[in-house]
Amino acid sequence: MASFELLLLPGDGIGPEVMAQVERLVQWANETGEAEIATASDLVGGAAYDEHGEAVSDATMEKAIKADAVMLGAVGGPKWDGVPYDKRPEAGLLRLRKDLELFANLRPAICYPALADASSLKRELVDGLDIMIVRELTGGVYFGEPKEITDLGNGQKRAVDTQVYETYEIERIARVAFELAKKRGNLVHSAEKRNVMKTGVLWHEVVTQIHKDEFSDVQLQHILADNCAMQLIRYPKQFDVIVTDNLFGDVLSDEASMATGSLGMLPSASLGAEDENGRRKALYEPVHGSAPDIAGRDIANPIATIASFAMCLRYSFDLGGLADRIEGAIAKVLDQGYRTADIMQDGKHEVGTTQMGDAILAALKG
Ligand code: NAD
Repeated sequence: MASFELLLLPGDGIGPEVMAQVERLVQWANETGEAEIATASDLVGGAAYDEHGEAVSDATMEKAIKADAVMLGAVGGPKWDGVPYDKRPEAGLLRLRKDLELFANLRPAICYPALADASSLKRELVDGLDIMIVRELTGGVYFGEPKEITDLGNGQKRAVDTQVYETYEIERIARVAFELAKKRGNLVHSAEKRNVMKTGVLWHEVVTQIHKDEFSDVQLQHILADNCAMQLIRYPKQFDVIVTDNLFGDVLSDEASMATGSLGMLPSASLGAEDENGRRKALYEPVHGSAPDIAGRDIANPIATIASFAMCLRYSFDLGGLADRIEGAIAKVLDQGYRTADIMQDGKHEVGTTQMGDAILAALKG
């Protein structure tokens, strides 16, 4: 069996508490021979600043670059509000994303049937929902130049952001989406605004070409981003993988995530380019932050982080079967009525972080 190196960066606040549950899963997988994963832990965010005066040290970056995958808990908290801007906890996360060149952000929106009533949409629309939004993360209007506000001198100002995409940026994100679709429902929706934006015209053209040349066995549909936003509310189960640019992806992934109910349930992955061995750099993390309001109390929901680990198994370690089992165990404990405080419902059984980890491990063993 192939062995893998996983770097754990628990970070701040609830990060170490939720990451501890992943460590237990890794230990279980190693002991039962389900996987061979060597872990190392290091500091990031405020914890790294306290130790090294930097939100992520060069030595940690080296480990992150060498590892087969990186898992991050969360960074930040009021303790570090006053530190210099370039050393703030979030700078550690941004450096990881930048130095690992993570251009593809994967945000699944999965609705476990047991939590369907927590969604803002009707149960029948979201029960069993499983969408993957693939957002381009390093280009587009958030980074394009010029990006400025000019004082026009007459009491008016002019603000400019620039939406820019080059062919290679669209090609590589399209490939990620098509590859993912092959491991899922084999359907990609490509969302842009080619009716009003030149970047949309190029996006459409490049995605069409990549599909024709490399992925004609995957079903491709083009959709205008505004229609996509509407369809996500109207009938979200029509989607499998949605690939889109940085700005539309930011909005559409937040919209889709609400179908699933709670922040404590949402995993994510960010992927980089393939190396010569076909391996991608990758960072897996829950969507939520460090939740300083509940840190240190063993009440945080570890499911987003555990589900991020399942994504790591599937996309970095090619252990899709084990990932399915972990996701199945999450669904099972929710069916059994276990709930952390953030997803608590009448008549259910409230548990803390460690107890939720216990329940998921028991479901895996059972
Ligand atoms: P947050 O996501 O930390 O918390 C928002 C709310 O959701 C809080 O009430 C929190 O208790 C709750 N919550 C979050 N995760 C939960 C979980 N797993 N279980 C139960 N409840 C959970 O966002 P915030 O309060 O805006 O930010 C707190 C800190 O986290 C800030 O310093 C912020 O900069 C940082 N942050 C970090 C990341 C990251 O590391 N990727 C992301 C967002 C925010």
